[in-house]
Amino acid sequence: MDKAKIGTCWLDGCSGCHMSLLDLDEGIVAVLEKADIVFGPLVDAQEWPEGVDVAVIEGAVSSQDDLKLAKIARVRSKVVVALGDCAVTGNVPSMRNGIPTRKLLERVYVEGATERPGTERPGVPTDGVPALLKQAQPLHSAIKVDVHVPGCPPKPSAILFVLSELLEGREPDLGSKLRFG
Ligand code: SF4
Repeated sequence: MDKAKIGTCWLDGCSGCHMSLLDLDEGIVAVLEKADIVFGPLVDAQEWPEGVDVAVIEGAVSSQDDLKLAKIARVRSKVVVALGDCAVTGNVPSMRNGIPTRKLLERVYVEGATERPGTERPGVPTDGVPALLKQAQPLHSAIKVDVHVPGCPPKPSAILFVLSELLEGREPDLGSKLRFG
């Protein structure tokens, strides 16, 4: 029987949710008996592949690049899981939402930068930096999400439960396994 395909990515997140995913310990063996991880920071794929069964997405949607990756993952995956409070609610990244983007960037890159003799004046970078969206959004504001797994980060047991249920073709009922923060 063909194995299922899992893709993971982090958008505007701290990687803590992926650390929790790694904390499945021996549970990861049971997952990998049924599925291959075909995209994400743990593998070397350059592009989100077609035909993914479960997309696990950490982080809020904060930049044009986040939005693009979230949309590609949605189109190429059967089930999308929002992993962690940043993906579920916006959480930490959304703390910037009351500040206009331009003001925020100047505060960080100009006012907050230290000018050193012999270096260029600090400025807002434009090359190689993805453009910020006006607001950091929870994942469901950008794409359809099938399963929400809150927590900052979510408990490994909750992640294992969700993956196991999905790989068995069942809709996970997190019930008492839910926690925020
Ligand atoms: S939910 Fe918490 S652990 Fe996960 S990316 Fe956000 S801040 Fe990090």
